[in-house]
Formats: sequence, structure tokens, C-alpha cells
Amino acid sequence: MDNMAIYIDITKCTACRACQVACKSWHQLKAEQTRNRGSHENPPDLSAHTWNRIRYIERVKEGHISWKFFSDRCRHCDPPDCQFMADTYLEGAVIKDSSGAVIFTEKIKGIDPNEILSSCPYNIPRYDPETNMVFKCNMCIDRISYGLQPACAKVCSTGAISFGKKDDMLKLASTRINQIGGDATLYPGEGYNTLWVLPDKEMLKHI
Ligand code: SF4
Ligand code: SF4
Ligand code: SF4
Repeated sequence: MDNMAIYIDITKCTACRACQVACKSWHQLKAEQTRNRGSHENPPDLSAHTWNRIRYIERVKEGHISWKFFSDRCRHCDPPDCQFMADTYLEGAVIKDSSGAVIFTEKIKGIDPNEILSSCPYNIPRYDPETNMVFKCNMCIDRISYGLQPACAKVCSTGAISFGKKDDMLKLASTRINQIGGDATLYPGEGYNTLWVLPDKEMLKHI
């Protein structure tokens, strides 16, 4: 399979959270009880049953409040630190697929979950004691293997989430960065299969 990437332009995200719902729906992830925390941001964190969540980033700039919305999920790092750590215990527990997707397999049950959790520099995987599995976004490998878009990209109505060959996604991101101007930037960088465009570098402090 071609090397693919998810590209997210956070300047186009309206926090509708259709991507959160689509992820739960496609992967049949159960709903979780939440409570009003004085914010529209909900749920408060990723979990074994929430693999993508919209983080609300509120900033005050020149006397004006600015909201930006960041779809937090696995970066599908290339190479992934989680795979590097897992391979020291059990090869095949974490796979970097040719598509670019980083996949946790059933073999991960043979590794101390705390080792997996602490290996990720982005605090993404979550442990589920009921199944003894560690979960995170898998780039909808079951969809993209059949030529479909990831569920989150399929439902994003504003065009904030795109999916395609990584080279094409990098070109889209570069064009958008030039359009936005200033110090708009690519995050985390080219060595990943999830790519975000941020409107400015100050945003990096909030991610
Ligand atoms: S579906 Fe698109 S616009 Fe809606 S929250 Fe997700 S990324 Fe943002
Ligand atoms: S973000 Fe974390 S869990 Fe995802 S591939 Fe990178 S190291 Fe692994
Ligand atoms: S790519 Fe699939 S698994 Fe990952 S956040 Fe989107 S819908 Fe969820």
C-alpha cells in the first residue's frame, strides 16, 4: 500500500465533533459518562474507548479571545517510539504498516501496559483493564485497506481532515501554510503519518 497520511487543518475545524462520534461509531467504542466541567470540551481526555478528541485551546491575543480546536489522536510516528519499546519485549506487538498506520496487535497483551503508555511522547495510548489491551487510533486500517477514507475524514464537513498519499498531504499542508502566512507551521513534522497545520507557532505551547 502507498504511504498515506491524515492531514488536519485546524484553522478549518469548528469543533462540531462529528469526527469523535464517527470514530466511536465505526469502531463500536462504548459511550462514557461525563460531567459538566464548565466547558464545551467533552470528553475531558482520550481513553481506551475514545481514540480522537477535540481539544479546546483558548487564548487571549491583543484583548480578544481566540478559540482553536485540535483533534488529538495518534501521530502515527515514523519511526514510532512505541514500536521501538515494544520490540525489545515482543516483536509484532506494535506494527508500522506500509500505509503508515501504527497498529497495536493482540500480542500487546504480553507487554506491561505501563511500558507502552510511557513510551509514547504524546501521551496517546490508553489501557483497558477489562480486555488487558492498550488502545489508540489505528488510522482505520480496516477501512483504508479497502480504499475507504478513515471514518473521521469521511464525516468532516468543513474539509479540516483530509486523507491521501503522504506526498500529496504534505503538498496540501505546504500550500495552506503559505496561504495562512505569518508563522503558520506543520506539526509534528514530516516524519509522521498524521500531519496538522497550525495557524502559528505559539499554538505549539498548548498541544
Ligand atoms: S469533524 Fe472536522 S470540523 Fe468537526 S470537529 Fe472534527 S475536525 Fe473539526
Ligand atoms: S503517537 Fe505515540 S502511540 Fe502513536 S505512533 Fe507515536 S509513539 Fe506510538
Ligand atoms: S483515523 Fe479512524 S481510528 Fe483514527 S481517529 Fe480517525 S476514525 Fe478514529
